[in-house]
Amino acid sequence: MTTRSAALIAEIRAIIKGRVIAKPPLSHYTSFRIGGPADVLAEPESAHELAVLIRRLHELNVPHVLLGSGTNVLFQDAGFRGVVIRTVAMKGLTIERNGADHVRITAAAGAPLPLVVGRAARDGLTGIEALCGIPGSFGGAVATNAGTGGVSLGDALVRVRLLDGRGKELVLETGDIHFSYRSMELPADATVVEGTVRLVRGDRASVRKALSAAMERRRATQPWRQPSAGCVFKNPSPDNPAGAIIDRLGLKGMSVGDAVVSEVHANFIVNRGSATASDVLALVELIRRRVKDAHDINLELEVRVIGEGPANV
Ligand SMILES: Cc1cc2nc3c(=O)[nH]c(=O)nc-3n(C[C@H](O)[C@H](O)[C@H](O)COP(=O)(O)OP(=O)(O)OC[C@H]3O[C@@H](n4cnc5c(N)ncnc54)[C@H](O)[C@@H]3O)c2cc1C
Repeated sequence: MTTRSAALIAEIRAIIKGRVIAKPPLSHYTSFRIGGPADVLAEPESAHELAVLIRRLHELNVPHVLLGSGTNVLFQDAGFRGVVIRTVAMKGLTIERNGADHVRITAAAGAPLPLVVGRAARDGLTGIEALCGIPGSFGGAVATNAGTGGVSLGDALVRVRLLDGRGKELVLETGDIHFSYRSMELPADATVVEGTVRLVRGDRASVRKALSAAMERRRATQPWRQPSAGCVFKNPSPDNPAGAIIDRLGLKGMSVGDAVVSEVHANFIVNRGSATASDVLALVELIRRRVKDAHDINLELEVRVIGEGPANV
């Protein structure tokens, strides 16, 4: 460890109670099991620690990136030069009545999305049951506007607490929350601290039924046992899903190194064992070229590529 990084680690340890790790292999923190080392990984335990940390990193001019559960990212093989702030230790969840028919659930950035969805279903609350089975943290789901089949978290979101790049708090309420397909319009460098969804009281049995149906659909159609980062590409349009386009071109099973187009769902690239980020990105380029040549469609990445690399797309 260099003197500079030892000093940085000491600074971070003085700010947060959670884990601070030097040179962590980012492959250990992503569902893809891919990624080189970061300089430092830090796990704040509260919104206050998070704000102080971001403010201090800004003063020191040290780059940082937010990480939730790492289910939608591809870290480059060279890793990330700076601090990866992982939110998993920030897990609070509160529930409040909002009139006779509505309930608001506020979840901290690190709360697992499945926990929030499950809690809503337990109380018979409807609005986010379609998100059942999407892995990841609540903050990651807000940042990426996670969703499926035309429903996204943004539809239910009524409040988002953020920090700007200097650690200053901002609050977005309903009219200020703008989102589109797999994208939340947040100020540059914003960190999601917590979010609030407004749900409607429904029938517990039918909410649970919807949940099980969503889960069964996923199990049947996605390679959920293999390391991946979910869908690699955004759908060009709702009636023209990327997976179907790739499948029709016969690209299932195509591989570069240990990165393979899933046989189960053609919009998933799975890591057969020792895939690198370069393998995945090379495969991404092959798929894009085939789709462009055949249909003149430019596939856009849904997975977020983070870190320094030769082909940062
Ligand atoms: C098997 C599988 C199935 C999936 N199915 C779906 C699906 O149906 N629909 C769907 O939308 N997604 C799906 N995904 C992708 C992923 O689960 C979601 O995008 C999820 O919401 C990401 O949450 P995360 O905590 O893992 O985010 P991460 O992967 O940790 O981060 C994703 C992005 O959000 C940023 N980020 C994370 N936390 C914060 C924060 N607190 N503040 C600001 N930025 C932040 C990161 O910097 C990164 O750019 C799937 C993934 C897998 C592996």
